[in-house]
Amino acid sequence: MKEQKTALVIGASRGIGKCIALRLASDGFRVFASCRNPEKFEATAGLIRSAGGECIPLVFDVTDRKAIAEEYAKYFPEDAPDAFVFNAGITKDDFFPFMTPEEWDSVLRTNLDGFYNTLQPLAGNMMLRKNISIVAVSSVSGQTGQLCQANYSASKAGLLGAVFALARELGRKNIRVNAVAPGVIETDMTKDMPAEKLVPLIPLGRFGKPEEVASVVSFLCGPDSAYVHGQVIAVNGGLYV
Ligand code: NDP
Repeated sequence: MKEQKTALVIGASRGIGKCIALRLASDGFRVFASCRNPEKFEATAGLIRSAGGECIPLVFDVTDRKAIAEEYAKYFPEDAPDAFVFNAGITKDDFFPFMTPEEWDSVLRTNLDGFYNTLQPLAGNMMLRKNISIVAVSSVSGQTGQLCQANYSASKAGLLGAVFALARELGRKNIRVNAVAPGVIETDMTKDMPAEKLVPLIPLGRFGKPEEVASVVSFLCGPDSAYVHGQVIAVNGGLYV
């Protein structure tokens, strides 16, 4: 019997990450999903299980290397998932002259260091396993820069740099590394954004849905993207072309 493929989604409790976990489960992956609060994640895990899928929560903050090591020791002691998706992210927007060290540090520690903290411990096992897909959820802000988001734009552009470097490093092992760059997606992160000002800037005339990001991640984690490597796939309704 063919072994079931596994996916690890980092930051799966809500929004885009939750949709990615649900989508990869429906694609047939056994889903390992990281969250900070397992109670908050239970509803998503329940949805996956009631659809016949399997979902295993890993509990850690992406800034906490010790907690990550403890969880990985339980589930990936000598192995790595077939698909790895780094989705965790926060914003703390501010006009740069007023941006506090906390606003800068927390966004970089979560969005960029979190990628290293959650991926690097698996990299050795990935090199042995091969045939893996890594996807980082970046942002249009990392492609273009965004007002009052020097911290966030830097973190998301940093992710793209890491993706490009890793694509060169890991490609020979058939470890594919790509990024998605969402535009404005309807989640908690954007619920207070002024739709009346932003929608006119989007050629498709609406915000995106988290499922529309999840379907691109699904493509990148699946066999149909076997020759897609080191790319940034925008999911932005034409906001940035
Ligand atoms: P949400 O705020 O809805 O969800 C953010 C997710 O990241 C949650 O699962 C959250 O977990 C997790 N997370 C945040 N900080 C940490 C941490 N320190 N440790 C572990 N998990 C953490 O945002 P979205 O779903 O909108 O965003 C998902 C990703 O997509 C982010 O990387 C974001 O930057 C990116 N993105 C979003 C866009 C949008 O328009 N929505 C546009 C472009 C990119 P918890 O529930 O515990 O807080």
